[in-house]
Amino acid sequence: MKTALYSIAAILALATTPAFAQLPAPLKTDVTTRVNAMYPWLDTVYKDLHAHPEIAFQETRTAGKLAAEMRKLGFEVTEKVGKTGVVAVLKNGAGPTVLVRTDMDGLPMEEKTGLPYASRVRAMSDGRESFVTHSCGHDVHMASWLGSARTLVELKSQWKGTLVFIAQPAEEIAGGARAMLDDGLFKRFPKPDYAFALHSWPLAHGTVGFNSGPVSSNSDTIEFVFKGRGGHGSAPDKSVDPITIAARFVVDVQTVISREKDPKEFGVVTIGAIQGGTVGNIIPDSVLVRGTIRSYSPAVRAKLLEGVRRVANASAAMAGAPAPDLKFISGGEAIVNSEALVNKTEAVFRDAFGAANAQRMPAMTASEDFSVFVNEGVPSMFFFTGIYDPKAVLEAAREGGKPIAFNHSPFYAPVPEPSIKTAAQAMSLAVLNVLGR
Ligand SMILES: [Zn+2]
Ligand SMILES: [Zn+2]
Repeated sequence: MKTALYSIAAILALATTPAFAQLPAPLKTDVTTRVNAMYPWLDTVYKDLHAHPEIAFQETRTAGKLAAEMRKLGFEVTEKVGKTGVVAVLKNGAGPTVLVRTDMDGLPMEEKTGLPYASRVRAMSDGRESFVTHSCGHDVHMASWLGSARTLVELKSQWKGTLVFIAQPAEEIAGGARAMLDDGLFKRFPKPDYAFALHSWPLAHGTVGFNSGPVSSNSDTIEFVFKGRGGHGSAPDKSVDPITIAARFVVDVQTVISREKDPKEFGVVTIGAIQGGTVGNIIPDSVLVRGTIRSYSPAVRAKLLEGVRRVANASAAMAGAPAPDLKFISGGEAIVNSEALVNKTEAVFRDAFGAANAQRMPAMTASEDFSVFVNEGVPSMFFFTGIYDPKAVLEAAREGGKPIAFNHSPFYAPVPEPSIKTAAQAMSLAVLNVLGR
C-alpha cells in the first residue's frame, strides 16, 4: 500500500510540475543583454574566421582559435577529436548534459562577395589547388557557438548540468561527425541527454525556422561505369556504344521519380557528371556517370536505390553490353528532430522572438551529418537562423524580384551582426530551457 501511495504522490508531483517549464522572463532579457554586450568580440572572431576559411579536415587554425577561446571561458578543452575536432566540456552541478555543435569547414570555391573581409585563401582540395570560402555560414555558426558558450558561462549561477560544446570538422563532405564519434566522442566525454545544432539559412535575420520530424535528407552518391566495346565511329556494329547506354540511363532514371515514387513523398535523383570519350569518331570503352539521390524516409530511399540500380542494369542489358559497375556511397541519413524537444524549444523561441519570427518551415533537401549524433539515440533539434535583410528576402519572394544568394553561392554574404546575435540568443535559450535549475 505504501508503494502504491508513493506512486500516486509521484504521479501528482509530475502532473503539477510540467516537464517543460518555461524560462523565467528575466533570464530571457539577460541573454539578450549579454549577447549584445559581447558582440564586438564576436564580430572580430567572425571576420577573422571568414577571411581564413579551411577545407574539410584541414581546420587546424580554426580549431586552434576555438579551443583557445573556450579555454579562456573556463571549459575543459580536448583537441584533435576526429582529426581536427574540438570538444569543450563545462560541468556545473547535477543536471542534464547538453551538446551544442558547430561545424568548422569552408568550401573549395572562390568568394565573389567583394566584402572587405572576403577570403582570398587558397588550399589543396582533392589534389587540386582551389580558393576556399565560407559560403555555407559555418563561420556564423562558430561565432554564435562561442557567443552561446560565453552567455551560458556568464549565467552559470542560473542553471545546473553539463555543457558539451563540440566543433566538428568536415561537415561539407559528411565525414566529420562520424570521425568524432569513432574517436570516442560519446565514450571519452559525457554522452548528451539533448543535442542542438543550428544552420544559417537564407531567411530574414532576426528569424528562426524549425520543425519536428525529418529536417534534412538522406543522401546517397552514385558512381556508375557503363561498359561497352570501343571501336570506330563509322562502324557501330563492330562495337557496343556506352555513350548511348549512359544517355538512356540519364533520361530513363527520372521515371523512378516520376512513375515509381509516391508523388506525395520527397525524392530527387540528379546526375551531375558524365565522363566518356575523347573525340567524335571513336566509340569509347566506358562512360562514368555520377549522381546524387535524396530522400526523407527510409522507405523512399530504399525504393529509389533499387529503382536506380534496375534502370542502370536494364540500360546496359538493352544494348547487349556487359553489366555496369554500380557503386553506391552513403552520404548519411536524414536528421529527425525530436518532437518533444522541438515543441519545448518552439515555445521559448516564440516567446523570445515573437510568433512571426519563430516559425515552422519545410525540411531542407540538403543533407547534414549532424544525423550521426542524433542516430546514437540523442533527442535532438537542428534549426535554422536567418542571415539576410528582411527587405531583400521579401524582394526575392516577389515574382521577378532580385534573388538572394543561397548557401554555396559565391555571393553568399550573411549580415554579420543581426545574424550572429540571433543565432547566439536562440542557442543560449534552447540550451537554458533544458538545463536544470
Ligand atoms: Zn554547406
Ligand atoms: Zn553547412
